Amino acid sequence: MQVRLPLLFLLLAPGAAYAQPQPASAHVNLYFAQIAEGQFDGGRWQTALTLVNSNPYDVAATIRLYGSDGSGLNVDFGAGLQSRHSVRVPANGSVTLASKPSSLPVRSGWAFVDASGPLMGSASFRLWLGGRAAQEVTAPPTLPVVEYVSYANRDLGVAVANPNNRTLRVQAYLYRSGGTELGPSLITLPPYGHTAFNVKDRFPQADLSDSMLLLTAADPPADEFLAWTMNADPGGTFSSLPPGGVTPPISHWDRIWNVYLRVLGSARHYGFLTGSSPRLLIRYDRQVNAYAKGGSEIGIYMGLSELLGDSDSELAFVVGHELGHILQQRAGDLRVWHPSNAEFDADIWGVLFAMTAGYDAYAIAGALSKLAMATGSAGLMTQMFEDSLPVPDAHRSFNTRMDVAYDFLTLLCATDVGRPFCQEYKRIMHPHLPDSAPLQADGLERLGFRKPSEAASMAAALRARLASAEETEQAPPDKQAQQ
Ligand SMILES: [Zn+2]
Repeated sequence: MQVRLPLLFLLLAPGAAYAQPQPASAHVNLYFAQIAEGQFDGGRWQTALTLVNSNPYDVAATIRLYGSDGSGLNVDFGAGLQSRHSVRVPANGSVTLASKPSSLPVRSGWAFVDASGPLMGSASFRLWLGGRAAQEVTAPPTLPVVEYVSYANRDLGVAVANPNNRTLRVQAYLYRSGGTELGPSLITLPPYGHTAFNVKDRFPQADLSDSMLLLTAADPPADEFLAWTMNADPGGTFSSLPPGGVTPPISHWDRIWNVYLRVLGSARHYGFLTGSSPRLLIRYDRQVNAYAKGGSEIGIYMGLSELLGDSDSELAFVVGHELGHILQQRAGDLRVWHPSNAEFDADIWGVLFAMTAGYDAYAIAGALSKLAMATGSAGLMTQMFEDSLPVPDAHRSFNTRMDVAYDFLTLLCATDVGRPFCQEYKRIMHPHLPDSAPLQADGLERLGFRKPSEAASMAAALRARLASAEETEQAPPDKQAQQ
């Protein structure tokens, strides 16, 4: 699953670097819409949360449990009854937290896992009857959505949770075979609240014939919600169902955090980023832009995330570009790749950071083209992805920037050390692209790039300057506070 990147080993990193393709479900924010734990007469419900880390570095995770009224839900995972649990998931390892028996009655709620890198996760619900494990069903994490669709019959189990610090309103509709529509039935939840019900509780007319349930936010996108459904039959057997979140729209806030921490984790692991992590600010203004400021802050505007909404790789390029500006800013405007143009230099960082984090190197083309289309004017387009340094001649057309990144990729793949990496990257990411794309180095020095040997010594200088740069202490990014 990992691709060697020996050129960067030679140029920049103390150890071999790899591209890191991720499992499709891995995320830094994992939401479980249902938790059930506690005793009842003759039995017990047990919840187990499993987190899997496929990254080559440890990931810290905080698990927060919420009850139906939105307050903390105390569960004993081995350290006593608590609503907040911290775990460290080792590199290429996993951790399982299974609730311990307590005398408490059955309570239900939901869980939010906030991790420093992408994790896979699952929540298992085990039914114990008379001291014997009778049944178990496993649920995947879900992201907030504004619509959710599920198979339904009258016994379907439905969980809905409110991940927002405000009242949530969701409407439920039941579509029965023959075209009858029942509803809406309004679900109102307090901040961080939760509810679980069977379809027949809200739709008494429902029967056991196949039907479809639709949950829809009353006021999208403010009413983003979490949902999960569990198939059940009258005999008491239950089973899992596929996730039914409707996209687009998607949860951009979660997506930006996932891409950001994935790029950051990779950059830090391979020694490109040292010291404190830049703050991430997600901005809801109506701008299509991103920025890096003072060596300590990266801003992503919601308009840009929406424009690149179908491609995490394009967003990864933008994050990598801004992270490149952060490196420039922290090292006194040092440009490793392109001495005379900070934007070209940041573009190269963007391509490299995206690649080493396992994203598509071609995404720069998609990101820049979409910006060209959305802004509709070359004059405006050149203002995108500004850094805050006073750099003369920093702005060129998007075509030129794409050309520059293409040429750099070509150089990377044409060197003896880069070729094996590029070939393996292509074998995994683009097996059907012709071998000629883009594998020839031509005219890079004429375009103002450093020679590879010179870039290597500049990279060493960058590392030295970053190591000696004064680090400003800052708190780790608080995702909750920005929500
Ligand atoms: Zn820039």
